[in-house]
Amino acid sequence: MSTEAFEFQVEARQLLQLMIHSVYSDKDVFLRELVSNASDALDKLRLEKLWDDSLDADVSDLHIDLAVDPDARTLTVRDNGIGMSYDEVGRLIGTIANSGTAKFLQELREAKDAAGAEGLIGQFGVGFYASFMVADEVTLLTRRAGEDEGTRWTSRGEGTYTLTKVDDAPQGTSVTLHLKPADPENQLHDYVSRWKIKEIVKRYSDFITWPVRMAPEAAATPPEEGEETAPAAPETLNSMKALWARPRAEVTDDEYHELYKHIGRDWQDPLETIRLQAEGTFEYQALLFLPARAPHDLFTRDFTRGVQLYVKRVFIMDDCEALLPPYLRFVKGVVDAADLSLNVSREILQQDRHIEMMRRRLTKKVLSTVKDMAAKDQERYATFWREFGTALKEGLVTDAENRDAILAVASFASTHHDTELTTLQQYVERMKDGQEDVYYLTGESRQAIENSPHMEAFRDRGIEVLLLTDAVDEVWADAVGEYQGKKLRSVAKGQIDLDAEDDGASGDEREKRAEEYAGLLGWMKEQLDEDIKEVRLSSRLTVSPACVVSDAHDLTPALESMYRAMGQETPRAQRILELNPDHPLVQGLHRAHREREDHTGLAESAELLYGLAVLAEGGQPKEPARFVKLMTDRLERAL
Ligand code: ADP
Repeated sequence: MSTEAFEFQVEARQLLQLMIHSVYSDKDVFLRELVSNASDALDKLRLEKLWDDSLDADVSDLHIDLAVDPDARTLTVRDNGIGMSYDEVGRLIGTIANSGTAKFLQELREAKDAAGAEGLIGQFGVGFYASFMVADEVTLLTRRAGEDEGTRWTSRGEGTYTLTKVDDAPQGTSVTLHLKPADPENQLHDYVSRWKIKEIVKRYSDFITWPVRMAPEAAATPPEEGEETAPAAPETLNSMKALWARPRAEVTDDEYHELYKHIGRDWQDPLETIRLQAEGTFEYQALLFLPARAPHDLFTRDFTRGVQLYVKRVFIMDDCEALLPPYLRFVKGVVDAADLSLNVSREILQQDRHIEMMRRRLTKKVLSTVKDMAAKDQERYATFWREFGTALKEGLVTDAENRDAILAVASFASTHHDTELTTLQQYVERMKDGQEDVYYLTGESRQAIENSPHMEAFRDRGIEVLLLTDAVDEVWADAVGEYQGKKLRSVAKGQIDLDAEDDGASGDEREKRAEEYAGLLGWMKEQLDEDIKEVRLSSRLTVSPACVVSDAHDLTPALESMYRAMGQETPRAQRILELNPDHPLVQGLHRAHREREDHTGLAESAELLYGLAVLAEGGQPKEPARFVKLMTDRLERAL
């Protein structure tokens, strides 16, 4: 049969280079990855056969075989599972579909030292390619269940691979590693050592639900002539016991962590393990994990969720979205339900009342675990919130039932501290006498928010403001509205009257001023009529001459553009221009407006002042070129 040569996709090539020259210290994990893939292949075949009984495949003895050949220095991992077609091999093994890969490789290039690179490899996990940490050549022979023709894939990991069509491949996949030369210092850790292989399987793959077998050692002396010897039975290396079905006290943290790595495709230990058991009319066991790091594609559309569904220890489906709400999509784990049908479909699950109850219980359990973590271990909680806080905040909008539970574990940057986050509870405890509301401001970055003119009066008076920088912040703050009876108020929205909060004494003073400025305010409103619905005096400014604010219930520009980016038609909300009557520029404008008959020259000043206010909050003047020209003319004249 003819052999075709192919090139790896660029990302795959880069990843392989990394594996060949790997600095990753725990090379044993390559075997975990291969056994993990083999186990998935067996699950898939069992399911496919369940759905389609006419599939021409043997499912009578599904298992994984390991074989070592010390003389040839090979290790083979074989499964009789689903296998791959010729096209699938090229697509699945020659390319990397994971959308986070490019970003991962970029980070890797930037990681200066070996320790940094190792950490990143550990976080990402590289599946099948991990073989090239220990092998200088890998051959994969596979035949998809139900098909006649098999495929042989070979590669030395260096840029190219070959594909050959084969007539007589057994069903499933066998991966043969030609191991790198042995390290004479470290014989015991050579992967042709049966002892070593047993130890790795026990450590990493004990819970795999299919038997992982190893053929017995070839007899040292051939049997005597005429003597009948039954071939020694292969040894099963794993206990195959589902961890969630074993008594809690029996299972070690390490065992949980290895299960997590298998289902989470992660090389790092999880941050937290959650076990839950429900008895009664609808029995189930759940074993959930909070990862230590957010995957790169958590906020992409094609992110798949991590909870697997089993029915009485039998794997049913991956990424079961009915088991947890979308904002907990980062949670990995297993749910084993006793009373579901083996061929239950996603559609049925979505409507099942018991599943709905299970989802509510699991959701509450995850949130209460986070709460405990916050109470007991601040550092771990901080890691969790850094990685998953943004996702969790989506729940404030979508899950009204658990809103309070999410608010209780949420924390935010605040003007109270440069680096430490605060909870809403802590904010409320620090509120000044007379302060009625919880203040926040949203923006691109902490720095941009802190320098925004809207913050001036708050800074002056030492009133704490939450600094919110995630896109979802504006949405949830709007949706939630209040916390413990205190309104959540954006300092860039609506009327802010801090004086009233102080003592209420200066009310008359302000009214007098507003009357005095009425002429200017009215005239400016006419000038800026297209963009601005009101011009008024401000009580939030102390340094800047002007700022733009939104009405309490209007969308802010950031939200508007977010909705537009999502393809939603959104009318442009007109905003409000606020002037600082204590600023010399505003006072000068006021004087000129009063004294001059002809206001044409002043119109440009009004336009400039408005443009400056937009710039100050991080926005862009409507016609930047025109703004620059007006500004340049002014500067020129001032020289
Ligand atoms: P991952 O397992 O994380 O998807 P891998 O690089 O390990 O990444 O594998 C890529 C894909 O190749 C798998 O998703 C699977 O579709 C296919 N594959 C790997 N090993 C096997 C196997 N033993 N049998 C069938 N398909 C396999």
